[in-house]
Amino acid sequence: MPPLQPKLSTPISVLMYHQIGRFDNPKEHRSCYCEVDSFRRQMAWLKYLGYRVITLEQARAAVFEQQLLSHPAVVLTFDDGYENFAEYAYPILREYGYPAVLFAVSGLLGQPARWLANGGVDAPLLSGAGLRELRAGGIEIGSHSVSHPRLGRLDPAAYRAEIADSKAALEDLLGAAVESFAYPYGDYTPEVRDAVAAAGYRVAVTCSRGAAQTAPHPLEIPRKAIAWGDDLLGFFWKLRFKNRRKDRYA
Ligand SMILES: [Zn+2]
Repeated sequence: MPPLQPKLSTPISVLMYHQIGRFDNPKEHRSCYCEVDSFRRQMAWLKYLGYRVITLEQARAAVFEQQLLSHPAVVLTFDDGYENFAEYAYPILREYGYPAVLFAVSGLLGQPARWLANGGVDAPLLSGAGLRELRAGGIEIGSHSVSHPRLGRLDPAAYRAEIADSKAALEDLLGAAVESFAYPYGDYTPEVRDAVAAAGYRVAVTCSRGAAQTAPHPLEIPRKAIAWGDDLLGFFWKLRFKNRRKDRYA
């Protein structure tokens, strides 16, 4: 039998998650919650349907260096670095052997996610020790800035510090290079993107929607948000069909 013909056109979906756990039917920010039982089913179905779960770096190389993929592929990204990632998502990822990247807010480690509407009282963020443990367990740690601001609204000195200082702090903490960045709220400008490049990141993700192949630049890779209301059908609808680019900058 001839080998499967690799196709660059095989869409790569970079999925965006925030909190994984058990929640009381959230009224607001529903795209920021995923029930752990739904998450488990989604991970099982990726395997069942033959998706390859790859790293963000592998996705970047596939799109920008034309490294061909023989399977439809998915990247799993988790924003903010919540404690519930370690409790609920990590054991499931381990079970399946899936790589993932967790984007941490370097100035708020071990504290509540203060930028949330309720002051983040229910949303503790992982400590430095927690991040180190996850990294030792194979999870990539990326930067999500120092304090989770809207970078596009800051002056250049302030956004450069958010971008570069978070990288330095996480690298000190982990003793390893931090090469991925996620724009808080997906808020960025071309100048912010250039500052991310100047700080030495290789890849960055936005909140625009589409397949990774629609990225105009390695530091502007779109994602697909998996929301509270997504049942398995909705999940696969997003994976399979929501590939055209739909921009959202803030
Ligand atoms: Zn965030």
